[in-house]
Amino acid sequence: MTTIAVLGSANMDLVVRQQRLPRPGETIFGDAFTTVPGGKGLNQAVAAARLGAEVVFLGAVGDDDYGRRIRSLLEAEGIDTAGLATAQAPTGTAHVQVTASGENSIVVVRGANATITTLDAAQEAAIRSATVLVMQFELPLGLVDEAARIAQDAGVLTVLTPAPVLAPPQGLLERVGIVVPNEIEAMALTGASGPERAAELLSGLAEWAIVTLGAEGSIIAHRGEVLGHAPARPVRAVDTTAAGDTFVGGLIARLGAGDDVVEAVRWGTAAASVTVTREGATSSMPRLAEVAPLLG
Ligand code: ATP
Repeated sequence: MTTIAVLGSANMDLVVRQQRLPRPGETIFGDAFTTVPGGKGLNQAVAAARLGAEVVFLGAVGDDDYGRRIRSLLEAEGIDTAGLATAQAPTGTAHVQVTASGENSIVVVRGANATITTLDAAQEAAIRSATVLVMQFELPLGLVDEAARIAQDAGVLTVLTPAPVLAPPQGLLERVGIVVPNEIEAMALTGASGPERAAELLSGLAEWAIVTLGAEGSIIAHRGEVLGHAPARPVRAVDTTAAGDTFVGGLIARLGAGDDVVEAVRWGTAAASVTVTREGATSSMPRLAEVAPLLG
C-alpha cells in the first residue's frame, strides 16, 4: 500500500466578511462570520485524499472544539489521524477579514502547530513507511528539517511547499525531491527576477522545481534546467483560494500512485482548475470522479 504522509498545519479559519478593513483603533460592523478548517497541511491532505490517495496526517491540534472539528473533518475524508497530536495549546487559528472588493487581511495564531518541535516514534515510523512525505513552512522549520532527513534516510520522496516565505534551514532544499513554490515564493527564495530563472536555481538544489503561475499554469524544471511549461486549464475562475494546495494534492496523489512528475503535474493542474470555479477552500476541492474525465 502506498501512503502519503502530510506533516503540516491544521487551523480553524475564522472568516469575517465586511465592507472594508477598519482603520487602527476603529470598530466597524461585519456582515457575516464563518468558521472553516484550513491550514496548508490540512488542505493538501484533503485534496490528495479526495483524489484517491491513502493519506496520513501528522500535526497537532488543541484539546478544544476547533481541534475536535478538525480531527473529525480529516477522519470523514478517510485520512489517518493517529499521528495528529493533542497539544497543551489551543488549536491554531487564522483570523481572516475579507472585504466586499476582495481585499483581505489575515493574522495567524499558530497555537498547537507551533508546539511540535520534534517527531514522536509513531510519526517517524509513518514517514519511514510512506511513499511520499509532504511538508510546508507552517510548522517549526527545525521539525521540517528533521522530517526531511528521516525521509532521505528512508528513501522516501519529499515534496515541499516553501510557504510562507521563510529562509529554509541550511541544506534542506538539497534533501527535497520536489519543491513547489508559487512564483512569488520562488523569486523570494532565490533572489531571481523571473520565475523561469527561479525554477532553474531551485531545481539545482532540490531535484525538481515546479513553480506555479496562477492562471498561467506552472513551470517544470529538473536538475537546473526548465523542461517545459504546463498551461492552466481555461476555466471561469470565481475564487482561487486553495488553488495551490489542490494542485499539490493532485500532484502527490498521482506521485503516490506511481505517475512521473510531468503526468502528476497534469493531474494537479486539472484538480486546481476545478477548485477555482467554486467558492471556498476544502469545500471547493474535487473528487477523483470529477477530475479523471478531464485527463482524457
Ligand atoms: P493559493 O495561495 O490561492 O492557493 P498559489 O499562489 O499557491 O494559490 P497558484 O499559482 O495561484 O498557487 O495556482 C496553482 C495552480 O492552480 C496553477 O498552477 C494552475 O494550474 C491552477 N490555477 C490557479 N489559478 C487558476 C485559474 N484562474 N484558472 C485555471 N487554473 C488556475
